[in-house]
Amino acid sequence: MISVEEALEKLLSNVDVLAKEEVAILDSLGQVLADDIYSDVDVPPLDNSAMDGYAVQSSDTLGAGPHSPRLLHVIDTVAAGSISESEVTAGIAVRIMTGAPVPKGADTVIRFEDTDEVSRREISGGQTITEIGILCEAEVGLNIRRAGEDISRGSRILAAGTVIRPAEVGVLASLGRSQVTVISRPVVAILSTGDELVEVGQPLPAGKIYNSNSYSVAALVRRYGAVPRMLGIALDSEDSLVTALRRGLDADMLITSGGVSVGDYDVVKDVLAKEGEIGFWTVRMKPGKPLAFGTIRGSDRRGVPRRIPHLGLPGNPVSSMVTFEVFARPAVFKMMGKKDWTKPTVEAVLEDGIVNTGGRRVFTRAVVEKREGRYFARLTGPQGSGVLTSMSQANGLAIVPEDWAEARPGDIVKVMMLDWNEEVI
Ligand code: AMP
Ligand code: MG
Repeated sequence: MISVEEALEKLLSNVDVLAKEEVAILDSLGQVLADDIYSDVDVPPLDNSAMDGYAVQSSDTLGAGPHSPRLLHVIDTVAAGSISESEVTAGIAVRIMTGAPVPKGADTVIRFEDTDEVSRREISGGQTITEIGILCEAEVGLNIRRAGEDISRGSRILAAGTVIRPAEVGVLASLGRSQVTVISRPVVAILSTGDELVEVGQPLPAGKIYNSNSYSVAALVRRYGAVPRMLGIALDSEDSLVTALRRGLDADMLITSGGVSVGDYDVVKDVLAKEGEIGFWTVRMKPGKPLAFGTIRGSDRRGVPRRIPHLGLPGNPVSSMVTFEVFARPAVFKMMGKKDWTKPTVEAVLEDGIVNTGGRRVFTRAVVEKREGRYFARLTGPQGSGVLTSMSQANGLAIVPEDWAEARPGDIVKVMMLDWNEEVI
């Protein structure tokens, strides 16, 4: 038996970071930036107003107060998106809206609330305001956003290796970029094996079950930023398996489910031995002890021959999801150029007991809740690896170490969080 860490290390040593691609900025969400990004613009491009108000000279506000307004002559109005030709000199004000460039000569902006704008409106009755009373003193630069304050031309704004989040998409847009160069999303071909499987949407004959693994695995692939390629169902026969596999040979990774437990070894093994190399790992974990790993001869997107990593997950629906989280997710992240492939982990007080007979690392479906500043984890009921609803109820996987014969209620265990929701926060 090999440890989870050894298995992961072996898998990752067969997986490489993919090539760069250029994509539309919105499509890059979750991908990793391939190159440093420098700005060739200032953001904002010009000094502009942070408030609706009046652009004036600060020296004109000296001595201004609620009962001693300084009267200025209003010569223009400037809205965001236009530039005022007027120059602000002593005794002059320009009415200015948020985001509008500050007119020449002005060095401060007095917000409407600090002027007699409202009472002037009543007097002017809809006519343009030609005079304004300033009701406070203002220092130079008040309410002015300086050119380049957010981003200055020539500076490095984002570093290669950054994972693109909504904020980075916004920053790229603020630089005027429509495209960005990122590490490609891996295409993951997904194949379920088993004579008993029926595709969703079809009637269910006696003795058959629906193929759920292709869908749970594809959903995980998509959640973690890769692109699932559905190869459907292969029967437990050489012909069927070979035909299905050949449809996925230009993918970046192949994930199969089923056919790796002792009784099934032969078909999968024979086929994969012919199409590439395969090894069976007995990993010291539960669920997911039998795991197949190998490489298959395929070709890249341009038809150049290469070996595609293949991960054979156990067929049990829970096992395939758990082993995906533990092994396939880091592999996908590595291909995407990510450096961090940990899931958030909390230490929780266990509320149920877990036995560990086989000296393996046990991953148990758990519901984690935060109460009075501490995390508590209870099990989601029946833990059979065929009980897929136990995954649906869980928000984490409670981990019992290999060298514990059992975990008792009250013990502190690590829980790998699958999701965060309001109970946990
Ligand atoms: P296997 O690993 O092929 O021996 O399958 C183990 C168990 O998982 C069996 O009960 C299978 O019927 C079930 N199983 C295998 N593949 C799938 C699948 N794609 N969807 C749902 N259940 C599956
Ligand atoms: Mg099977």
